[in-house]
Amino acid sequence: MNKWFLSAEIFSLIIILILILNFYERRWKNSAQRKLYQISLLTSTGAIALNIICVYMISLAWKIPLWVNLICNSAYFLLIVAVSTTIAYYLMCLLFEHIYIHTGLQKFKKILFLLYLFYVILILYNFHSGIIFYFDENRVYQRGPLINIGYVIMGIQLLMLIVFTLRNKKSISDPMRRVMRILPPVIVLLTIYQLIYPDVLFNGGIIVAVNIIIIINFQSRRIEQDTLTSSGNRRSFHEELTLRLGGHQQFQIIVAAIHQFGTINNRYGYRKGDDLLYEIAKWLEGIDALGQSFRLGNVEFALLVPYHGMVSARKLLDTIHQRFSMPWNVGSMQVVLNASFGELICADEPWNATDIMEFLNFSLSIAKERKDQVIRFDESVYRRMEQRSQVIKSMQNAIRENAFQVWYQPIYNCKTGKFDMAEALIRMKAPDGSDISPEVFIPLAELHGMMTEISQIVFQNVCQLLSETSSDLLDSVSVNLSMQQFMSKNLVSDIRHLLDEYPFQPERLKLELTERVLAEDLPHMRRVMSEIESLGVQFALDDFGTGYSNLSVVLDCSFSNIKLDRSLIQRYTDNERSSAIVNAMLDLFHRMNCQVIAEGVETKEQAEALIRQGADWIQGFYYAKPMPKEAFLTFINR
Ligand code: C2E
Ligand code: MG
Ligand code: MG
Repeated sequence: MNKWFLSAEIFSLIIILILILNFYERRWKNSAQRKLYQISLLTSTGAIALNIICVYMISLAWKIPLWVNLICNSAYFLLIVAVSTTIAYYLMCLLFEHIYIHTGLQKFKKILFLLYLFYVILILYNFHSGIIFYFDENRVYQRGPLINIGYVIMGIQLLMLIVFTLRNKKSISDPMRRVMRILPPVIVLLTIYQLIYPDVLFNGGIIVAVNIIIIINFQSRRIEQDTLTSSGNRRSFHEELTLRLGGHQQFQIIVAAIHQFGTINNRYGYRKGDDLLYEIAKWLEGIDALGQSFRLGNVEFALLVPYHGMVSARKLLDTIHQRFSMPWNVGSMQVVLNASFGELICADEPWNATDIMEFLNFSLSIAKERKDQVIRFDESVYRRMEQRSQVIKSMQNAIRENAFQVWYQPIYNCKTGKFDMAEALIRMKAPDGSDISPEVFIPLAELHGMMTEISQIVFQNVCQLLSETSSDLLDSVSVNLSMQQFMSKNLVSDIRHLLDEYPFQPERLKLELTERVLAEDLPHMRRVMSEIESLGVQFALDDFGTGYSNLSVVLDCSFSNIKLDRSLIQRYTDNERSSAIVNAMLDLFHRMNCQVIAEGVETKEQAEALIRQGADWIQGFYYAKPMPKEAFLTFINR
């Protein structure tokens, strides 16, 4: 009579049922791997249940026909090894998750199949020979000489997993590495226990332990998923790149940034907006069987696909580009999106994941300057990026070493013939001594949060100059304000402190704004402007006529001066149309009680014509270029 202890198996059955419930509760992406794991969970449950049934049937063997018992037990033997085979295959798929070429996986699959086939033949042969198990003449279950053959097969499977893990460490994810660290010793220990105490049925325990280890480690994946679209997020993108690079994979990445998504949210509601983002992620994921999509930012997506040469890479980019030119349909909503694209191909370049993310970011930032633009990361983009980081470094140095200079360009007063105004212009040198234009470094300073320091330097210098000179000699100096400076919460209080600190009449300080700054948030701008004006400081509108101009802004805000842009002035004497426009503007602004400064005057002809037409001031190389403070003081004193 066989005497087996079933409590461990019953307990295992309960645990595995809990795991199944937990598995179906969670809303994971329905990937092929998830389906595979689902199969292994179900076969695990089946094997444990069948084991329990078999034990009962063996204990009632004298009541049941022998063939029923034989078939049932054989089925259990087949099922338990089927469980270990599916789990081994599932784990191998996870080990191959970050490797594009799957020939190794195919080989492994073949070996698993052959092993299992061999095992099936043994089980069939067992009916006749009893080499694995048999029922003796008293219908008592007996173990055959090959009773532990199943463990041998599991051992081979485990060994193959270990060998693959050791050989491909760099392309294996952290959770998978953890699984492969914990799993083998646990399986070996539990199997030894089972071999020592064969009467305490414990195969279910081993299966449950394996499943728990897998579930615990892959639960962390949820954090790496974007909750809205269930694609990867920024973090998992970085990790994926690290693993692909670790395994020397060649890949192509396409990033897409959608413009003005806010208008879609405003128009159709956030729910619809979210649905649309989900739709985009799903479409991207579906493009390539091996492709993975990620949501890197609110409205930024990345697609990572294996690289098979330039032709297919270009084709893929075209497909995506074209798709974005067509409408997206979500429920009743139909919208066409504006997007910009960045692309990068990595074919064994010595980059790391952080480099790649930076390259993509940069490509996208250039692409974003124009909608529908595609920027492929290449040598020239890399050079631009290097130049930019050089400029950023120079700015950091200049701030640290106090190396920014403020120069002044004298402005000619057409009525008095004196240079009674000036514009303060910041100057910075590159390490090689060449000048870097403020047009290049100011936008970067804004982007990298260095504008506060630069602003301080200019204001301090200008206020110092104003407090050292009399208003008879220098009526006013103007300071350029960038968008970020104007948006700064501290602007008004900073100016107030400067006016307290330096003794000069506030009207002598002028602030120059461009219309680009005003366009951002006109009501807010107007509020800040009137607060500053109440301190006595005046405003000038810079670069009027550069395409952003809009007369209503001039009417809305109180500018004491309007600066006609260089582009208007330089064509002034060339043709009649240009001169007619400038003359009309001079007339119009005078009627509006604004005084006009003509910028960028380079020739005598231009200067004379402008004076004839009644321009109030003239700024330009014809009279004077920007110069350092000392030279400027000598200039105006003369
Ligand atoms: P902006 O405010 O329009 O300044 C006038 C620019 O035109 C200056 O260039 C000046 O050197 C140049 N300019 C003046 N007359 C002539 C001329 O006859 N011919 C030509 N070709 N150019 C002339 P700069 O100094 O390179 O500054 C460029 C821009 O950088 C400025 O344009 C301004 O937008 C920005 N910027 C300069 N300094 C500062 C600053 O301290 N803060 C901020 N926020 N922006 C600044
Ligand atoms: Mg200016
Ligand atoms: Mg200007």
